[in-house]
Amino acid sequence: MATLALPLDRAGERQVVYDAVVPAGDAWMQEVNRGQHLRIVDLHGNQAVDTLFYNAEDYADRYSAQDTIRENRNIYLTTGTRLISTGGNTLLTIVEDTCGRHDTLGGACSMESNMVRYAIEKRFMHACRNSFLKAILDWDHGMTKRDLTSNINFFMNVPVTPQGGLTFEDGVSQPGKYVELRAEMDVLCLISNCPQLNNPCNGYDPTPVRVLIFDPPGNSGN
Ligand SMILES: [Zn+2]
Repeated sequence: MATLALPLDRAGERQVVYDAVVPAGDAWMQEVNRGQHLRIVDLHGNQAVDTLFYNAEDYADRYSAQDTIRENRNIYLTTGTRLISTGGNTLLTIVEDTCGRHDTLGGACSMESNMVRYAIEKRFMHACRNSFLKAILDWDHGMTKRDLTSNINFFMNVPVTPQGGLTFEDGVSQPGKYVELRAEMDVLCLISNCPQLNNPCNGYDPTPVRVLIFDPPGNSGN
């Protein structure tokens, strides 16, 4: 960690309470308390960060792509976007975004989708849904496959054509770009730092990302 410059524009005002690097292809799971900010940094650029959010008090109340798109009246996520749960709650709000656009239509890669989209022998390649599944089993709070629903792909570029078509394009992100979210309630965050090698969502070279959690200004935490 010492080799990485802290990417803070307001250093000193806020306390960093968590700081970790998630290696390419790994999962990460952590609770973020109401009022805290979660920052995800695309360290090397062009890295899809597949992410799920849950109400920390009730995992059945979780991020909903459909409700988020409808409530924000936009299919792309960026500064100001409220992330809406299946129960109609605002889980988090995106408060800063130096990338500019994030996807919530493309879904997470899986062994099955890799086989269907690319080739039968791709079945054994590592995929986001495997990372999600391993993480929730390690978390050991009773979550199962059924808890893996619609997700966000931070830093991933899935433009929609005027005809409504979806395309997976090379990324719009660059090294050091970040997105920062304010937790509007206690939430559980689950990330799969995507290992995909069959399309340009990671520039064919998955790389680490950095995850930071800040206390709000004036909150000394402990
Ligand atoms: Zn993936």
